Amino acid sequence: MRFADVIGNADVAKALVSMADSGRVAHAMLMYENDGCGALALALAYVQYLNCSNPHDGDSCGECPSCRQMAKLIHPDVHFVFPVNKGPKTSDDKPTSESYIGYWRELAVAYPYFTEADLQRAIGIESKSGLIAVAEAKNIISRLSLTAVADGYKAVIFYLPEKMNQETANRLLKMVEEPPEKTIFLFITHAPEKVLQTIFSRCQSVRVMPLTKEEAQRARAMNPFDDSEEYNRFMELFSDLMNALLARDLMAALECGELMAALESREKQKAFCTFAADCMRKIFMTQQNMPQIAGIADEEQEFYATVVSRCGKSFCHKSIVNIEKVVAMIDRNVNSKILFCDLVNRIFLSI
Ligand SMILES: [Zn+2]
Repeated sequence: MRFADVIGNADVAKALVSMADSGRVAHAMLMYENDGCGALALALAYVQYLNCSNPHDGDSCGECPSCRQMAKLIHPDVHFVFPVNKGPKTSDDKPTSESYIGYWRELAVAYPYFTEADLQRAIGIESKSGLIAVAEAKNIISRLSLTAVADGYKAVIFYLPEKMNQETANRLLKMVEEPPEKTIFLFITHAPEKVLQTIFSRCQSVRVMPLTKEEAQRARAMNPFDDSEEYNRFMELFSDLMNALLARDLMAALECGELMAALESREKQKAFCTFAADCMRKIFMTQQNMPQIAGIADEEQEFYATVVSRCGKSFCHKSIVNIEKVVAMIDRNVNSKILFCDLVNRIFLSI
């Protein structure tokens, strides 16, 4: 992927190019995006630029052997890590990213703006949570200790480091702190507060901004699973809930809880929870006087402004914790009506 083909975030692209041009390539970078905003597209364009044998005008050539390998995501020195679980698309008992790499390539080549839910669908683990287990760290360490096949940079594009446990992070830490020469880690996160501090503190952070409405439409046109309808449906449900809470109308709030429980599958219920947690993060960031990081779309500014001014300081944090508990319980087959009513009750009490 060339920078010219990346939708949105021209400033981030420019910063990456000048970093590469000046030779100040950070060996560990954490790109923070809202789910589905194209950090992967930027990461791919950046690595392609670094390894291009004929870069010009601030972009890769798109034609040299390295660029051609990058276009198919088969560059031998570029590795991908993403959360996985057991599923019907692999016979591996302890799957790693390698078990699903073909599906990853297919999705990321066609549509680098995919969401977490798109990836789960693509690798066939919709009803489970993706995790990054310690076997993944071992794979990466052994691959990075090999000599680079080509002359350029070795890169690890690490999607959602927040899904790795302490053991995995411990294994990786030394490699992230002192990587072999010309080796870079690009972490893409949706929840920077959940990235283990030991990793976070070693990274240069980059904020990838949400796409504008027009950019999002262009990106979405590439989406093999169009979910704009779902976004609107979730946003409506979330704003109904917030309006009920702010009006201190418990009955109306509980009705929203019933609608959440009535979403057609456990997968959708979890997707809604992820969506609601993202919205809570936007409220939190705005309360912290970081509206530029909150990434609120223009058409939603008014809604968030009202909510932000009327929620307590600890509301978002408590709500996110409660929402995450619900996600874990959905996986355990707990009755969803009880779960969501309980969730609404807890959120109602913490506002
Ligand atoms: Zn090239």
